[in-house]
Formats: sequence, structure tokens, C-alpha cells
Amino acid sequence: MDDRSKIHLGHQTLVAKALGALEPSTNGLVPAIHMATTFARESDGNYRPGHVYGRADSLSVHQAENVIAALESADEAMLFVSGMAAAAAVIMSLPPQSHIVASDMMYWGLRKWLQSVGRFGHSITFADTSDLNAVAAAMKPGMTKLVWIETPSNPLWTVTDIAAVCEIAHAIDADVCVDSTIPTPIFTQPLLLGADMVMHSATKYLNGHSDIVAGALATVQRSDLWERVRALREELGTALGSFEAWLLVRGMRTLDVRVRTQARSAQIIAERLLDRPEIEAVLYAGLPSHPGHRTALRQMQGGFGGMLSIRLADEVTAKRVARRTRLWKHATSFGGIESLIEHRASIEGEGTSCPRDLLRLSVGLEDVEDLYADLCTALSGSSAEDL
Ligand SMILES: *Cc1c(COP(=O)(O)O)cnc(C)c1O
Repeated sequence: MDDRSKIHLGHQTLVAKALGALEPSTNGLVPAIHMATTFARESDGNYRPGHVYGRADSLSVHQAENVIAALESADEAMLFVSGMAAAAAVIMSLPPQSHIVASDMMYWGLRKWLQSVGRFGHSITFADTSDLNAVAAAMKPGMTKLVWIETPSNPLWTVTDIAAVCEIAHAIDADVCVDSTIPTPIFTQPLLLGADMVMHSATKYLNGHSDIVAGALATVQRSDLWERVRALREELGTALGSFEAWLLVRGMRTLDVRVRTQARSAQIIAERLLDRPEIEAVLYAGLPSHPGHRTALRQMQGGFGGMLSIRLADEVTAKRVARRTRLWKHATSFGGIESLIEHRASIEGEGTSCPRDLLRLSVGLEDVEDLYADLCTALSGSSAEDL
């Protein structure tokens, strides 16, 4: 029996116990890793347990999907080999000639890929989804099939009102998919706000240990689109592998405690950095000065996440600060145990809309006093060096 049969368990309990299922052959508290890719027929020719061939998925993948579904208050979840594969499966499964509306500020890799949806016969309009008038203006009744939002979004942490966008989209029968990688299900549950689908780069907070690449989708209601996404995943073989799924379950057991600590530290660091003379702006949805703060207060519970950005005098200064930190590792990605700092414009390359004086910070699980001190050392030395 798993613990979902007892209703109203908190997120902390859900993740800590990974639904509480015991490994049936030993009563182990930790699931086995199911590596088999082919399964014997029974004497009557049936595949009673339902498994046929490993390209579709595996029991280890199901176990991880069940945890994600419970966290997102979803009926079903699906895991993919990456966040990009999850997002691409949705786009490629839309009806032909679909029009898509998407946040103009979002994870750059996905934004870049979305620019070429024409190859699937679709068209796309990028809009400032934090502005509901802009969302409404971008919709094409009868043509728009999907609205794709990310909130708070990379790298300015722009906040989109999920419930309000759902209302606009549903009025013309368009679905809404929310990339909820940044807030995680601990701080925001888009499906409860009306979204049709949630997507995660599970590479980031869900796994949390910077050792797998994975993507997830979850939905409240199985739809034709959902079934086409599942079929495509099986046809192309883009389901997550069993070992990665097992690691993901292990990682998710500490999701609640990790992201709450990271959000608490991010809030402290953001507030203190406001007073540093070297800093032109601190971008964090948890600061009252942030343009999305009021909406974030309404749709985020318990914290504003572990990501923030700072803007410095110019690009040279920003890069110098990133080079001078010791505890904050100068690396891309985010959501792991270790704190990271990154000059986003450099990795996004040509055509980036990221300000060149911006550094993105992913707050890890180190002592917040150590993290702040390390930043201060890097900031105060940043103008004297390299002259
Ligand atoms: C990393 C990321 C993605 C892409 O996911 P991968 O797992 O790297 O394929 C999508 N959206 C957001 C917000 C991300 O941070």
C-alpha cells in the first residue's frame, strides 16, 4: 500500500517517504532499480504486469512519476530524458498549424528552440506574459492552442499570474503549460491555479544534486494532447532511464527541506545586497521592490525560490565578481546543493536579451553567512583588480 491512499498528506511527508511504498520482494524501504528492458509473456500469451519493452518506460520511472504527480496534485506525470525533451514533446504533439503564445522571458535554450516551431507547421508569438493585456492581445481565437509560461522566469524572475493567464487562454479553448522548474511544487502548484500541464527541468531542483538530466510533465486531466505526448515519448524512446529515475526519487526525498532552506537564504542575501553600494539592482521575487512581488505573494506559498540576479556597474565588473567568488562556483545550471554564480549573457551568446551587467545566483545549502561573506569579498575587490 502506498501513502497516497491516506488523503491530505503534506508535501514534506509525500517527498520524505516517496509515497511510502515498500520494495515487495524484501520489504526494503528503498525501491529496487528495475533495469529489465524485455519481459516474458505468461503461458496464456499475456503480459499480465503490463510491461512489454523498455522503450516505453519502466517501473522505476513509474515510481518517480507517481511522486511528481502527488507533488503537483496531478493525475499523471511523465518523465523524459531532459526538460527540453519534455517541452518538445508537447510542442510536437499539438495539432498541425497550431499557434502558440509564449513568455518572452524564459529559459533561453527553450526560447531559442521555440523560435523554430515553424518546422512543425506551427507559429508562435512571444509576449510579456506578466502583462495580461499583452497576453490577451497575442491570442488568436481559433488558432491559439497553447500558452507556454515560465514563472518566476529566467533571468529577471518576471512573475506571470498563472490563474489570470489560464482564464484568458481557456476562454478561447487554448491549453496552458507552466514551466515550474524555478518555484518547484513546494512553492507553486500551477494545476491548482487552472493550468492544464506543468513542466519541470528535473535536472534542477527536483533532483537537486547536479547528477542527472531529466524532464517532467504532469497533468490533471488526460486529454488527446496528453495521449499524443505519451505516444511520441514511446515512439522516440525519450522516457527517462531507470537508474536516473531511481536517483530522482532519492533526490526528491529531500526536496522540501532543500528548497525551503535555499529560499530562506536567497531572501536574506537579496535583502542584504540591496544595501551594497557596488550593486545597481537586486532582482528577486521576494523583494517588495520587485515588479512581480504582489503576484508572487498571491501564487507562491512559503517562499520565493532560491534564484536571484544582481546587476553591477557594467559587464567587466560583473565578470570580475563571478571570477572572484570562492564558495559560489562559476558554473551554469542551478538548483543543486552547491551555490552557483553565472554571467548569463556569456552562455546565452548572440541575440541574448539578458542584460550584460547581470549575474545569476543559485543559492545552495551552504551556511548563508559564509555565502554572503564570500559575495562581499568578491564585490569589494572587484573594482581594484585587473586595472
Ligand atoms: C534547464 C531548464 C530547462 C531545460 O531543461 P533540461 O533539463 O536542461 O533539458 C527548461 N526550463 C527551465 C526553466 C530550465 O531552467
